Amino acid sequence: MRSYHSRMPLDPPIPFPEIRSGEALTVSGTLFQTFEKCPEQAAGRLRGVYGPESRASFVGGLAHRVFARHLSAGPIGAEEFTAVCREEIGSSMNPKLGALGLKPSQLQAIVDEVGSLYERFRTLGAEGFEGAEVPLESEPADGVTLRGKVDAVFGDGGAGTRLVDWKTGALGEPAAQLGFYALLWALERGEIPGKVEAVSVSSGERFEEVPSRAGITAIASRVAEMVNDLRSAWDEGTDLPRVAGPWCRWCPLLDECSEGQAAKALLDG
Ligand code: SF4
Repeated sequence: MRSYHSRMPLDPPIPFPEIRSGEALTVSGTLFQTFEKCPEQAAGRLRGVYGPESRASFVGGLAHRVFARHLSAGPIGAEEFTAVCREEIGSSMNPKLGALGLKPSQLQAIVDEVGSLYERFRTLGAEGFEGAEVPLESEPADGVTLRGKVDAVFGDGGAGTRLVDWKTGALGEPAAQLGFYALLWALERGEIPGKVEAVSVSSGERFEEVPSRAGITAIASRVAEMVNDLRSAWDEGTDLPRVAGPWCRWCPLLDECSEGQAAKALLDG
């Protein structure tokens, strides 16, 4: 069991606002990030409305398993790479493979794609590594569970703990998700992380932030506001605001959403 650095003990702890009572709710970083873009899309996720499994997300999921294995067990040799990928798929990803409808003969192309991501990943270095796929959970208010899994945790010497999220595609806008992880780390571990960062393994782009008590407290307020908005909408039987943008393109509610369709038409020119 690895130990985690504790550089900035939280005294007093991060306050979590009073919350409207209601249905129990589990909030993930993805849900929070989605809500920050379009509240109704997030409500759709909570109703179980997800987009179909995509090849890109399968490649990303497998790459994350490979990265975690590299960090925890050491480098993976070229001669064993395909077998390792097949083992990872067999251990937890077969249902996703089935949902994609891929034939076994198409698997090698995916393994090759993950292999080229892995080659780039290996150049990033792992100094100070403390843990991969680190689960975090906190219940800061009755019936509200915050849950997340940090791709990698590093101890950066005097700079404190660094939480890293690997992206296998474009970097996107990771600030909300990273802020959520910083909050969760502060609530569960009782310390403010020294740094949170997102790294696109495919492009090399990087986004990083040094969290502060004020910033984490503000994220706690936004999460609380989200829970209040969702519970109000459920109690009153109303929809949440639909905020259209480029993300509508991949929204599973697009077919029933006039706002999203208008945005998509504009974007498509
Ligand atoms: S299509 Fe766009 S506006 Fe409509 S619910 Fe989805 S994300 Fe929101």
